[in-house]
Amino acid sequence: MDNKLKDEILELLWSLREKGSKSYADVLKGLDDDRVSDVIRKMEASGFITTSGDDIEFKEKGESRARDLTRRHRLAERLFHDVFEVGMYETEETACEIEHFLSPSVTDSVCSFLGHPPTCPHGKPIPRGKCCSKYRSEYKPLVMPLKELEVGSKGRIVFIIPSDSSRLERLASMGIVAGSVIKLKQKKPSFVLQVDETALAVDAMIAEEIYVRKVT
Ligand SMILES: [Zn+2]
Ligand SMILES: [Zn+2]
Repeated sequence: MDNKLKDEILELLWSLREKGSKSYADVLKGLDDDRVSDVIRKMEASGFITTSGDDIEFKEKGESRARDLTRRHRLAERLFHDVFEVGMYETEETACEIEHFLSPSVTDSVCSFLGHPPTCPHGKPIPRGKCCSKYRSEYKPLVMPLKELEVGSKGRIVFIIPSDSSRLERLASMGIVAGSVIKLKQKKPSFVLQVDETALAVDAMIAEEIYVRKVT
């Protein structure tokens, strides 16, 4: 069986289900490949999915593989989009390739590194992993928005996701760039950071866009 096509079918089924569809016709529409119905027949024979009439649904092992693939794909998107600041189109292309190479433990490291993001850059939910529930109870994420840092703590800036790209230059001119260490002096009534010897006041909105890794 063509494994790449099989994975594409599983991922497509997952996103169709998010939209409330379990239609075989939608699967055929979503993938431009004349081997699709043949591969679906084989997937049904090996217990990944089940079909009846125009309905196509997961069986347990198909669902768990689809969940893993979707999780890896959407986390890879977040990584390229947020950390490497790759454009949306290339993000999609690269994520499709990389998802096949991420092992489960690397996937959880990427998830932790990104602070267990709930959605991909397109706003679709990222299926939760083991790391995400551990985080709630035991671990803090490596990278968190500046606004979540406690007052008095220091953080090294890992990345900045500006809603307005002209803001990056302005922040850079104040020494707020990836790699700088900042100390959070206060959160209210406004955010005050110390960069080197200088104290700077920034908007709460900006404090949400700066991601730091705590420095102890
Ligand atoms: Zn996405
Ligand atoms: Zn996680």
